[in-house]
Amino acid sequence: MAITQSKAVSLNQRIEEFLLSRGAIKVGFATVETLDGGPPSVDLSYKLPGAKSAVSFAFPLNKDYIRPFLAKEDRSSHEKDDADAFAYTKALSWECADMLSEEGYPSKGTTANLKYRTEIEGWEKGQYPDISHRYIAVRSGVGSFGWSGNVGIKGFGTTIMLGTIITTAELEATDAIPEGEGFCDKCKICVASCATEMFDKEKSTTVTIGGVDFTYSARRNLSRCFMCCGGATGLHKSGKWSTWSPGRMILPEGDSDEELDPVYRQAIEKQKKRPPMPGGAKSTLKLHSQPDRVLPKVVLTCGNCQLICWGDKVETAKNLKILRQSGCVVQRPDGSIEALPPEEAEAEFNKMDPEHREAYC
Ligand code: SF4
Ligand code: SF4
Repeated sequence: MAITQSKAVSLNQRIEEFLLSRGAIKVGFATVETLDGGPPSVDLSYKLPGAKSAVSFAFPLNKDYIRPFLAKEDRSSHEKDDADAFAYTKALSWECADMLSEEGYPSKGTTANLKYRTEIEGWEKGQYPDISHRYIAVRSGVGSFGWSGNVGIKGFGTTIMLGTIITTAELEATDAIPEGEGFCDKCKICVASCATEMFDKEKSTTVTIGGVDFTYSARRNLSRCFMCCGGATGLHKSGKWSTWSPGRMILPEGDSDEELDPVYRQAIEKQKKRPPMPGGAKSTLKLHSQPDRVLPKVVLTCGNCQLICWGDKVETAKNLKILRQSGCVVQRPDGSIEALPPEEAEAEFNKMDPEHREAYC
């Protein structure tokens, strides 16, 4: 349905008010024109044939829980906050989509993560999302890329969750944040926060969307993250700190698939032999589209590159210090986990039964 410019502006404003009044901190708009020429994951018609626009919004994570998570003092509070933010951004996007659909513009909400284009051969390796919240967020000016490739906002850093609504309404596009005016000062602390060193410190990658270039760090090999963020391993090669994962495999220095693929397969097999990690969070929120669905429990062991960056050099540096002093996690045969100073963790680990140890290194 075509609408006049003045109606489009007013619809933009109403959508923005709708989302801001429900906790979003920033809202932006992209159109098929401003997304033109971007990667396949900004093709709105993949999710909604006839889509004309996308609405992007950001919702904040609770920073009060992030430092205890980085310090390995409290995993569950941030896990719960993350699970709730995940469910809430999904629910909010569907609520907004329903509002637009009721007004005569068929629209669709999206899920915040974990939805992939599984029809692509080898999708597990690239984990291509059905829709890229990040690309739409940067093109619409909701946030900008940090060096890590996480999207952030001044005053928040990258401690945000993104949501997207896809609609047949013709909305007015908002501008991308100009280069150099975003939150990222290229301190590269995010690079140092990754136990498996996924980000290249110097080399960058550029993506062009709607004629605008966006640049962030080159990924050395995505499987470095899949192994670590997935919990298979978590020990930094210095042996001085770890993520919340009890895995102690140190990855090879090389970045070729030939080198990393066998390690990846081995890491996953080892992880399967471990007792389940205690804790984990299940969101108590009901999903709008599936109110009866019980959400799976999520065990978070990393996310450090996102959590570390608070958009303020001093605070971000403090976060890295906390992480580096947080010790190393070991898992007992009964499944319980404990964060110990690095030498103590190594000594405890070495005392364990070789059969138990085999599942971690
Ligand atoms: S830690 Fe944040 S501000 Fe520093 S380089 Fe990474 S994304 Fe940019
Ligand atoms: S989530 Fe963890 S493992 Fe993955 S890139 Fe970020 S810091 Fe590295």
